[in-house]
Amino acid sequence: MNHLAPFLRIENLSKCYGPTAAVQSFTLTASCDDFVVIVGPSGCGKSTVLRLVAGLTAPSSGTIWLDGQNITALKPARRDIAMVFQDYALYPHLTVAQNIAFPLKLRHAPRAQRRERVEATAQLLGITDILNRRPAQLSGGQQQRVAIGRALVREPRLFLMDEPLSNLDAHLRLTMRTEFRRLAQRLDVPILYVTHDPAEALALATKLVVMEAGRIVQAGTPAEILADPRGTFLPLFLEAAKNNSAPW
Ligand code: ADP
Ligand code: MG
Repeated sequence: MNHLAPFLRIENLSKCYGPTAAVQSFTLTASCDDFVVIVGPSGCGKSTVLRLVAGLTAPSSGTIWLDGQNITALKPARRDIAMVFQDYALYPHLTVAQNIAFPLKLRHAPRAQRRERVEATAQLLGITDILNRRPAQLSGGQQQRVAIGRALVREPRLFLMDEPLSNLDAHLRLTMRTEFRRLAQRLDVPILYVTHDPAEALALATKLVVMEAGRIVQAGTPAEILADPRGTFLPLFLEAAKNNSAPW
């Protein structure tokens, strides 16, 4: 692969539902060390962008390139893309180890390879001590880590996360931010992460994409965006945060 070329390239992606343009002319590039955060108010099209990239929704127009391959028409299962949702959707009757191993089992990976990958993934996420528990015996944060483990075990080419922290309490959300940053540094694939929380977005992103009403209003590093926030959503949030003397 040409390392100067972006690993992920989204060009003019649009999705209309009848008269509603959920996403309009969305363009983005990301390389393997990018943690891209898409932030914007509820209904602005964030989840639709992720679903289009994952192949769960077909675009009205536009192109998606991954590692030099045009994947726009590829079936979701053939994209090698992992997606973690707000709702972890763990299998309640399976242990943590079995939940994480599940995608490998579907692929008929040999038992020894499954064990090795589950152990490496559990180590990465710091959950080796809970591998024999079932989801009901886990805290929200632990469930979140298991869901991430199950997504990572397949060694995807791209990692998508849709508001993965919104079901956690405030304290855990802060802890998990630090974990996500650490995880991102160890992963060699781009992360595309969606949130409606600007504080979370600014804390995590190497590249920030601000969306409003289906369109990108601004994209850049958090520092660039903080220096000159455009649109309405982020400036309003920053103003409110300043009045409450938020730490940043
Ligand atoms: P967000 O994730 O930013 O909250 P979404 O991407 O879920 O926003 O939705 C963007 C817009 O597209 C909203 O107006 C939503 O109602 C609409 N939308 C999303 N999915 C569908 C669908 N399957 N059918 C019709 N409209 C949809
Ligand atoms: Mg959403």
